[in-house]
Amino acid sequence: MIEPLFCNLDDRSIVYRSVSDLFGVCTYFLVDQEKVIIVDPGRLSEEVYHWLEQFKAHKKIIYLTHEHFDHHYDVNKLLAFENTAAFSISIDFEQAIKCGRKNLSYYYNTPIESVLSKQTEFNFFEIIVTPGHSKFSVCFMYKNMLFGGDTVIEKENLVLKLPGSNKIDYKESIDKIKNLTSKNTIVLPGHGNLFLFNNWFKISNQ
Ligand SMILES: [Zn+2]
Repeated sequence: MIEPLFCNLDDRSIVYRSVSDLFGVCTYFLVDQEKVIIVDPGRLSEEVYHWLEQFKAHKKIIYLTHEHFDHHYDVNKLLAFENTAAFSISIDFEQAIKCGRKNLSYYYNTPIESVLSKQTEFNFFEIIVTPGHSKFSVCFMYKNMLFGGDTVIEKENLVLKLPGSNKIDYKESIDKIKNLTSKNTIVLPGHGNLFLFNNWFKISNQ
């Protein structure tokens, strides 16, 4: 299912979400007149591909919040389409999403080797480097939205025990993000529902 979440009144861009059958990863689609930004394409349904057909002429730009395979399961498939490219955070990140042990797919017997075969230099997001949940976690800021990945996420979805997790790094990342994010920001997390940064900030400060 693909659901519209809200419309940004200043530029009329619309944000949609689809929740994957694989670990409930949230994929977000930010659509305006000329582009579709896709954040964390997990395993997408046929319905989503069908829905995307209406944006044939739009540029599609893919962003990934971190290296775990459930968040980039369909990247290779999407990059095979025309007019589609990914934004790469770093060469190290590209190596991690290619490596089954680093992207964790090896441990789930579903080997995923994602390759950012088509890349774009254009960046629409402010990138906040936030290691902790994983070595290469980042969050993306866009207007009053924060794509939180598995980093800014409700407590019940927070995991800091995976290979590559680091609790000390996580704490530093959270301090950093608290300094950079205004409290009325809407968080679009990698799993679970949207929430206001202010509410999350209060709870995680307790
Ligand atoms: Zn993760």
